[in-house]
Amino acid sequence: MRHDPLGYLATELDSIKQQGLYRRLRILEGEQKPKTTVDHRQVVNLSSNNYLGLTTHPRLREAALEATRTLGVGSGSVRTIAGTMDIHMELERRLAAFKKTEAVVVFQSGFAANAGTVAAVLTKDDVVVSDELNHASIIDGSRLSRATIKVFPHKDVDAARRIVRDLPAGQRKLLITDGVFSMDGDVGAVPELCAVAEEYGCIMMVDDAHASGVFGRNGRGTIDHFGMHGRVDVQVGTLSKAIGALGGYVAGSRALIEFLYHRARPFLFSTSHPPAVAAACIAAVDVLEQEPQIIERLWENTRFFKAGLQALGFNTGLSESPITPVIAGEGSLAMKLSDRLFDEGVFAQGIAFPTVARDKARVRTIVTATHTRDELQFALDVFGKVGRELGIL
Ligand SMILES: *Cc1c(COP(=O)(O)O)cnc(C)c1O
Repeated sequence: MRHDPLGYLATELDSIKQQGLYRRLRILEGEQKPKTTVDHRQVVNLSSNNYLGLTTHPRLREAALEATRTLGVGSGSVRTIAGTMDIHMELERRLAAFKKTEAVVVFQSGFAANAGTVAAVLTKDDVVVSDELNHASIIDGSRLSRATIKVFPHKDVDAARRIVRDLPAGQRKLLITDGVFSMDGDVGAVPELCAVAEEYGCIMMVDDAHASGVFGRNGRGTIDHFGMHGRVDVQVGTLSKAIGALGGYVAGSRALIEFLYHRARPFLFSTSHPPAVAAACIAAVDVLEQEPQIIERLWENTRFFKAGLQALGFNTGLSESPITPVIAGEGSLAMKLSDRLFDEGVFAQGIAFPTVARDKARVRTIVTATHTRDELQFALDVFGKVGRELGIL
């Protein structure tokens, strides 16, 4: 028999199983709705980033269908060859106006936007100064850039300042934070880090994936939330979460965007969005501008659910957003909590090492604007029951 050169993968998988961290993919059998069928079971879904319910919004659906009817299902090429259609340019113009920046470039995903941008703007002679909980796409982009990577403890602005202060004045530095941290739901130290960046001449970059459509006026993000327009050089947003479709974008100066047109590798070497995606995203900007009450509903639900979890006695960490972690500790306990919640009709994913620290495993909950009070109260009741059963409460 032929020797299996991938045999070590089975050994790795066995070790994942022994740690209680083996996951099967959960399969949704219908639309992305707050109450849906997952693995043949009716559940209240607390795992989706579809904050505003836009994945099934009639205006987005209709825009995507119309674009497919008139323009087809694909773009046929990368943006720099023949894959730039009118509708891609329209989306970028709309996003730039919405974000109040000179220009925007859209990528295939938020991941591609972060990784492609960091890797393009830095070289091996430069330094990235990065919050320890920044998203994986920032870490990967930093590695791809071959710049020196300096990590500061989560939201420790003084530590970030010491790092940049001790670097040579002439060295190029990129200071980077998530706007909202995806596993803890806390908000990045954007104003304080901007002040450090200005003091030491750093490029300031904020990844607003979880803030897009959620924070700021009409969901313009944390830069708008903090009144920091004009002070963040590179803003990344996603079109995959609250915006309901797929994609990521960089908002900034015209020079930054034109440079990325020429140097960002996902832009140059991977095909652009189908027209339906661009059309849905344009419709989403219309909705944010014209129906901001959806965002208010999201925050009302957030306050209700967070207060409910805290009243039950769960450790919900430092969340300030619709993402609320329920911290269990050991990875296997978090996975057991998630499994038992699921049995009882609540879908909230367990998250363990290496996504979060080994002793901070958790179930992550995300409420949306479209959850009803009854659905949220049901989920709280189940959390109470299962939390007591597992000795977490
Ligand atoms: C989800 C996420 C991304 C990636 O966005 P996609 O559009 O899903 O690729 C980037 N950064 C953060 C902080 C995220 O949470």
